[in-house]
Amino acid sequence: MTKQYETVIGLEVHVELATKTKIFCGCSTAFGAAPNTHICPVCTGMPGSLPVLNRQVVEYAAAVGLATDCEITRLCRFDRKNYFYPDNPQNYQISQLYLPICRNGRVEIETAAGKKYVRIHEIHMEEDAGKLIHDEWEDISLVDYNRSGVPLIEIVSEPDMRSADEVIAYLEKLRLLIRYLGASDCKLQEGSMRADVNLSVREAGSAVFGTRTEMKNLNSFKAIARAIEGERERQIELLSEGKPVIQETRRWDDNKEASRAMRSKEDAKDYRYFPDPDLPPVFISEEWLKRIRDGLPEFRTEKMERYRREYGIPEYDISILTQSRTMAELFERATALCGQPKKVSNWLMGETMRLLKENGEEPEDLRFSPEHLAELIGMTDRREINGSAAKKIFEAMYDRDADPQTFAEEMGMKTVNDDDALRTAAERALAENPKSVEDYLGGREKAFGFLMGQIMRAMKGKADPAAANRILKELLEQKG
Ligand code: ADP
Ligand code: MG
Ligand code: ZN
Repeated sequence: MTKQYETVIGLEVHVELATKTKIFCGCSTAFGAAPNTHICPVCTGMPGSLPVLNRQVVEYAAAVGLATDCEITRLCRFDRKNYFYPDNPQNYQISQLYLPICRNGRVEIETAAGKKYVRIHEIHMEEDAGKLIHDEWEDISLVDYNRSGVPLIEIVSEPDMRSADEVIAYLEKLRLLIRYLGASDCKLQEGSMRADVNLSVREAGSAVFGTRTEMKNLNSFKAIARAIEGERERQIELLSEGKPVIQETRRWDDNKEASRAMRSKEDAKDYRYFPDPDLPPVFISEEWLKRIRDGLPEFRTEKMERYRREYGIPEYDISILTQSRTMAELFERATALCGQPKKVSNWLMGETMRLLKENGEEPEDLRFSPEHLAELIGMTDRREINGSAAKKIFEAMYDRDADPQTFAEEMGMKTVNDDDALRTAAERALAENPKSVEDYLGGREKAFGFLMGQIMRAMKGKADPAAANRILKELLEQKG
């Protein structure tokens, strides 16, 4: 009989914090600037320069800790992790080993298999390294220190996950929480969220963990799922041939759909960690912690509860609208203006989601104002525009926050529900199509649609359908 294996996974997730300046100096953290323009003696490791901790980094890290039920270490400290690499000009990275800012948290996840908790071992603060560029010049590697000193938190989970589904649910949950806090945009593709996957397998029922490997370079959920599957199979094959799994760091190549060994696993002791003598310990006072706690936004579960009480919209709508804070705010503000929660929700879940997907954008990128959305709904209700015009107007709002009134006027989209104009058009349609009138009066309902079409065409599509329908019926009744 073939053996059954269980997969065991723990994650180390790095998140770039959304501070304006770096963790230990005043340089900008903006992404995409010309190489080596956001640098200074501190973040390029010049001798004699001294780091000064950015207060906002501590506040974001503690907020993420509070949102994940962690204990906050009231007196935490930074340590030096020593290693040489050209993207690391100090020859050490300032990180936290002995007293990380957060410990012992947990995150609830939900998969098809049900709900469970993933425990958080710790969250620590550290600085990012620079970036090596290998391909631009032949035989020469270049280094850009703009990223050097950008603040990171590393969230280390316990080995509590058992499948790719659970890993993805965990990452999505973290991403949702951190984005709600505004602590990071958590974009895997841009590297503001990076996950290293530690994976081992063991025989089902075994009480001890197997030897794990760590996989790096995973920059999409799809890559993570594929890497987990690939590594699981590789380890099972080794074990079933009686060979050992070697504890090492492996690099996932998503194009080849395979990983290869990068280096043997290093130990904390290899790095000669010691407390950084340039930085005093960080004391988080009772008042400071209270201020951080009071500043936390309403979280998703609380928001969902409130939506159920206040808006009377379907559960499905609630789950979509509360997935991002931006979306939820748009919903609440537009609803406050027009008083029609379901209609606002329909625009957000329908056209908005469709256009976001089409443009590869996130809710945070939305540009249209709640005022304009409320106005568009009002215009539709007052039948100043018809459904297809509303969709076109909405596209212009999505694109550049166009004012719906001005746009509709400029584009000549306003419907005509002026009865006289409609009556004239309807009378002409009847006069020009006596056969259809006869058919309709003879019981052929289809002729009605044809006559409506004639009116709409005469009005260049701008007739209010309800008004046109009513007038056409009146005229036909008079004939009948
Ligand atoms: P290190 O700091 O040396 O990388 P840790 O013990 O802190 O090692 O663990 C790092 C990550 O590896 C954690 O997310 C942890 O959950 C995970 N991990 C530890 N042991 C295993 C294992 N046997 N199988 C899978 N994951 C593991
Ligand atoms: Mg590690
Ligand atoms: Zn700097």
